[in-house]
Amino acid sequence: MVQTIDAEQQRTTDFLATIVNQNSGTMNLAGVDAVRRMVEPEFTALGFKTEWIDMKAAGRAGQLVARHAGSKRGKRLLLIAHLDTVFEPDSPFQRWQVDGKIAHGPGAGDDKGGIAVIVAALRAMQAAGTLKQANITVFLTGDEEDAGNPLTISRRDLIAEGKKADAALDFEDLAVDDGPNGPVEMGSIARRSAGSWTVTVTGRSAHSAGVGANNYGAIYELARIIDQFRRELPEERLTYNVGLIGGGQSATMDAGRIRLEASGKTNIIAAIAVARGDLRAISQEQIERARAKMRAIVAQPLVGAKAEISFDEDAYPPMPPTDGNRSLLARFNGVNRDMGLVEMGELDPAKRGAGDISFVAADVDGLVGLGPASDGSHTDKEVVDIPSIFKQAKRAAILMSRLAAERR
Ligand SMILES: [Zn+2]
Repeated sequence: MVQTIDAEQQRTTDFLATIVNQNSGTMNLAGVDAVRRMVEPEFTALGFKTEWIDMKAAGRAGQLVARHAGSKRGKRLLLIAHLDTVFEPDSPFQRWQVDGKIAHGPGAGDDKGGIAVIVAALRAMQAAGTLKQANITVFLTGDEEDAGNPLTISRRDLIAEGKKADAALDFEDLAVDDGPNGPVEMGSIARRSAGSWTVTVTGRSAHSAGVGANNYGAIYELARIIDQFRRELPEERLTYNVGLIGGGQSATMDAGRIRLEASGKTNIIAAIAVARGDLRAISQEQIERARAKMRAIVAQPLVGAKAEISFDEDAYPPMPPTDGNRSLLARFNGVNRDMGLVEMGELDPAKRGAGDISFVAADVDGLVGLGPASDGSHTDKEVVDIPSIFKQAKRAAILMSRLAAERR
């Protein structure tokens, strides 16, 4: 497998260059579909059956699923990556450009580089004869960067695949920490959740001369709430942010809930105040605990105000660091040892945002970060480390060959 991946280095980078040069910003539905058409033959050539799940119902292009059936008794692997990028057709950042060991391009690392790793690894498995018996489903979403609404539609099929799988491997970028002697590759077995909340406070509008113990109005009350959140919510691995706030005599939020228009006068006690923010946590229990604290804080308003809190339904679930995930990392470190590579420690989950693997984390063991090492993602400085594509493909091919040969 190592030899095949090395012999195909040029093929792999040419393939990656081709898909990077096709724009596939999440909302460029035709572009996402075009990348899908470039990627699909790679899987059919290896004996995978492919399916394109249309996602117009969620306002997105679709999702490519490629299935390889092997031994009925063997473990079932679910490989997750994505076809889309954050760069829409109006972005000036559109082309692949190689500069020594680094390539610059939209999605070069996030996550077209991950797709290149998958294809290189599967081709190596086929050449070595380990693909034949392997049960592998590749799930490429077309809306990872901006998931379609509602999530109950846009993540329905991914969640269903997670329930059938024995291990999920996420081909987003390899985590690299700064160590005392230079960069250190890290294993990633957990991701925090991401969800938003809204606090709406209504107050009794009156002449400002009467502000105080009998009537504080909406803005003082909202300030009390978010400051009490700041002081009382924090616990390890949980963060809470306030991203938007406004208040006065009137405050109206737009439909996308990213703009607030407020008006008021200094001599009138505020009638309304609104804030939106997020909450990121490592487990469902932590989310529930934080939400309970938030509700309790909101439920004790200052005189003259009434507060409500709501939590958005389209939240990304957490991927906690379970024993099952740890044992996958241990298997991965077995591959590292056999390849003469350094073993990887666990990445701090605070250093990784939520992702598609989070949707299957409740149902299947998972390992994150099997894609190449990259930098500057979501900016026009995005680069991929080319040698890491081959290194990750070798690791993935060996890991998958071993896992697929195990009984369920
Ligand atoms: Zn991304």
